[in-house]
This record gives sequence, structure tokens and C-alpha cells, in this order.
Amino acid sequence: MADVLYVVIPCYNEEEVLPETSKRLKEKLVSLIEKNKISDMSRIAFVNDGSKDKTWELIKELHSEDKIFSGINLSKNRGHQNALLAGLMTVMEKADMVISMDADLQDDINAIDEMVDKYYAGCDVVYGVRSSRKKDTFFKRFTAEFFYKIMTKMGAKTVFNHADYRLLSKRALEGLAGFKEVNLFLRGMVPMVGYKSDVVYYERGERFAGESKYPLSKMLSFAVEGVTSLSVKPIRYITGLGFFIFLMSIAILIYSVVRFFMGATVQGWTTLMVSIWAIGGIIMISLGVVGEYVGKVYMETKARPRFIIEEFIDE
Ligand code: UDP
Ligand code: MG
Repeated sequence: MADVLYVVIPCYNEEEVLPETSKRLKEKLVSLIEKNKISDMSRIAFVNDGSKDKTWELIKELHSEDKIFSGINLSKNRGHQNALLAGLMTVMEKADMVISMDADLQDDINAIDEMVDKYYAGCDVVYGVRSSRKKDTFFKRFTAEFFYKIMTKMGAKTVFNHADYRLLSKRALEGLAGFKEVNLFLRGMVPMVGYKSDVVYYERGERFAGESKYPLSKMLSFAVEGVTSLSVKPIRYITGLGFFIFLMSIAILIYSVVRFFMGATVQGWTTLMVSIWAIGGIIMISLGVVGEYVGKVYMETKARPRFIIEEFIDE
């Protein structure tokens, strides 16, 4: 008997793409079932992340027409990462393997075959990696690649050009369930689970319809989230910076003393002003970074639920 596959898809205001996404995914799963690669208990699970449009109605409709579609309705909008985790944790008991992907068909669904093959070959984690970003706008590509570089520098280990298109086996999911943090950055957490992993390359297409749910502001906060949830290197950099500035001030002190004995008059109003502002700025940035971590600690100690499920339809 072949293993059960669940495809988990977080959806936020995706009524424009759902009809096409569901159609293509169904074809894909049906063909895999026919080839006896996956069990006929396999499902496509849409997670409705508090959409304001007809997304949930559409999901319910799909489910009533065909039991291959399941639906998970969150009590409110919690963001992509939380919605994805909600989906993964909900289907965990029923599935042997789970593939997560976006609703907008940017992730090539033909990579699913290869992911499943690698699962049977003994991989617990299979990362979908973009072979190129040709179809992305220059801005998106530039900011995204810059983001990965900074992340690596800051000590957050991730798989380059991998987003959230991946296969996880049941035991990898059970491993992931052990990570209790509320500040979620899944693509950084999954490598920490370990187990045998592999990558599958695919070409990332354009969004099928509708617009990106990740504007620049969300991307920036996602980047900060990524770095601070995985590493404390920024704090260490600040300590280094503090030492550097302290040494600089000693050098300036020596310089001023020498100038004094040489009989130079009071000068340097400019340097004074500049250094006050520069140091003030650095202190504020540093406080901000430290504050970021303090905020994280605060949120973690509260241990609020990462998602609340209103309804799970699955037969
Ligand atoms: N998404 C979500 N909750 C949100 C924002 C986005 O579940 O608050 C989902 C969205 O429906 C999509 C996926 O996350 O399936 C990725 O979003 P999008 O395609 O807009 O991001 P981009 O590809 O532009 O980075
Ligand atoms: Mg997209």
C-alpha cells in the first residue's frame, strides 16, 4: 500500500487562484494515485488564513464536490508561517508525508513527483529550490537575494533560494512539532530538525492571478523575524561595535591632549556635533536590536497559541 500524501496550502484572499490551483493539483494527485505512488487517502488541504473574500466558501464547495479536498479554517488571519504550521500540525496524524506550497502556482507542481520519489528513497526532508528567478521582477529578485545573503551573514542558516515548498515525512513533522517557539521562521527551523534531506530544483513561475500578499513592509519584518529567531549574532556585533567606539574615544582623547599641549585653541565644534549624533544613533540602533530580542523573549514567555483552528473538514 502506497503512503498517504497531504499537500498543505495556506490561503489568504486567494479566491482568484483557487479554482485553477485546485484543478491542477487534483490532476496531479489523481495521476500519482493511478501510478500507485501515493495512497488514495491522499488529500489537498487548504488552510484559510482568515481571508476577507470568498476563499473559505470556495474551499467548502471544493470539499463537498470532491473528498480529495480538505479544509482548515483558522479563527483569524495569523500570517503565512502560522497558517502553514497550523496546516502541517493538523494533518500530521493522517499523513505519511506532507508537501507545503503556495496557493498561487508559483511553485511548479511537477516537482511533486520528484519529491515523492526522494521520499521513497529515504529522505525525510526534500527542499524545493528555485533554479532561477528569471520570472521574478528585478526588485523582488534583488531584495530576496540580498535577504538570503544578509541572513547567512547574521548566522541564520537556510537553504539558498528555498522558500516554503518542501516535503516533510511524518517523523520530520513530529520533530518540528517539538519546536515550541511562537516566533515562526519555518525555513530556518526545518534544517534544525535534521534527518536525511535532499533538494529538488524547479523553475519558479509568475503568480497565476491576484497580487502578492507580501509587500515590502511584510518582507522586511519577515527578514528581521528570520534573523532574530535563529541567531543572536546581531547582539554580538553590537558588543564588537561598542568596543570599537570605546577604542576610538581613547584615540580621540589622546589626540586632544596632544593638541592641548601644542597650544591649539578650542576648535572642533563640528566633530563634536557629528560624534554626538553618530554615537546617539548607534546607541539607539543597538537598543532597538536588543529590544527586538527582549520582545521575542516576552512573546515566548507568554506562549500564546500559534494558531486557533475553527474548523477542519476532512473525510
Ligand atoms: N498567505 C497567508 N497569510 C498571509 C499572507 C499570505 O496564508 O497573511 C499565503 C498566500 O495565500 C500564499 C502564500 O502565503 O499562498 C505566499 O504568499 P504570496 O504568494 O502572496 O507571497 P510571494 O510569492 O509574493 O512572496
Ligand atoms: Mg507568491
